[in-house]
Amino acid sequence: MPDTSKQHRIAALIVAAGRGVRAERPGPKQFEPLAGKTVLARTVEAFTGHPRINAVLVVIHRDDEPLYRQAAADHEKLLPPVFGGETRQASVLAGLEHLAQSPSIPDQVLIHDGARPFVCENLITAVCSAIRPDAGAIPVLAISETVKRAEAERVVETVSRSGLHLAQTPQGFDFTAILDAHRAAAADQTDLTDDDAVAAHAGLAVRTVCGDRRNIKLTDPDDFRYAEAMVSKSMETWTGQGFDVHALVPGDHVMLCGVKIPHTRGLKGHSDADAALHALTDALYGALGEGDIGHHFPPSDPNWRGADSAIFLREAIARLEARGGRINNLDVTVICEAPKIDPHREAMRQAIATIAGIDPRRVSVKGTTSERLGFAGRGEGVAALATATIQLPAL
Ligand code: MG
Repeated sequence: MPDTSKQHRIAALIVAAGRGVRAERPGPKQFEPLAGKTVLARTVEAFTGHPRINAVLVVIHRDDEPLYRQAAADHEKLLPPVFGGETRQASVLAGLEHLAQSPSIPDQVLIHDGARPFVCENLITAVCSAIRPDAGAIPVLAISETVKRAEAERVVETVSRSGLHLAQTPQGFDFTAILDAHRAAAADQTDLTDDDAVAAHAGLAVRTVCGDRRNIKLTDPDDFRYAEAMVSKSMETWTGQGFDVHALVPGDHVMLCGVKIPHTRGLKGHSDADAALHALTDALYGALGEGDIGHHFPPSDPNWRGADSAIFLREAIARLEARGGRINNLDVTVICEAPKIDPHREAMRQAIATIAGIDPRRVSVKGTTSERLGFAGRGEGVAALATATIQLPAL
């Protein structure tokens, strides 16, 4: 059994005092929501939830205190925030000085960018484990691209990438060593962009650990689009089926799949009696688990007398969109002896695709007979079967 009584007391210092002007967002980027939770709240939770971290201190800009209060959830490890300085280096020093005044001064500290919300438990553990009294630890990534030096949009040099790495955070240090290094750097009026550089300035050794490509620093709008994709809930596939029948009565046309087909008879129904669109609408409600067409559009409602059945399908699709879903494909089979479906198949696909606002390749229309058997075989009515396959946010 490891002797846990000898475990170091480790604080996380999260720097979130920047103004985030590069992100082209309305406010500081660390307070932007990602799937309903701010970037900073996600970052803080990565550390408050880590078993090796004893305390978390966030350095914020004085103007952001109301935003911080909204973003930060109470946690026993989370200390009240402190205000930062003009530069990142000054903000880190403010945080370190605050920790140095606290009743339980940490043995070690991890210093992390507030705009890196995807820091994972394993990376935090790796940095904690690599810290030595005489050496800090930083996560780095090898560079896979060829590196160029350019001036005024002109390449002037290909830089050998041998030995080059990209530095990430959290960067971990012995607390007293990095506090002394920061005080010395401040006395020398340096403006260094990470704590490894501050450590180097003081002659403190730093080891590298393997970084994580997902641990990106959200800087520009593309980073935010990538981050939103990373946190958006995964989608799952749902299917639904539909079936409908309408009687053939005296008339001069039928509506099927939103297409008017001249015929010696017509379809009887409260609306335009488009059995195919009704079956498709039911298939969509089925996939959504939201009842059936009769529930949403009661035949007793005079609003739907003679109605264009495209209205029903559009309404089901509006529900799908409101749920954050999208259509994979729609497949409908029309069962009748007449009219023949085949000559109208492409027009029907196109009509359904237009109503649904999707690519016609996602729509299939098929026609069949019932071999002169049953009501369809006797020409008493038209039946339609449909399947809808959709993507919905995972439960
Ligand atoms: Mg119907």
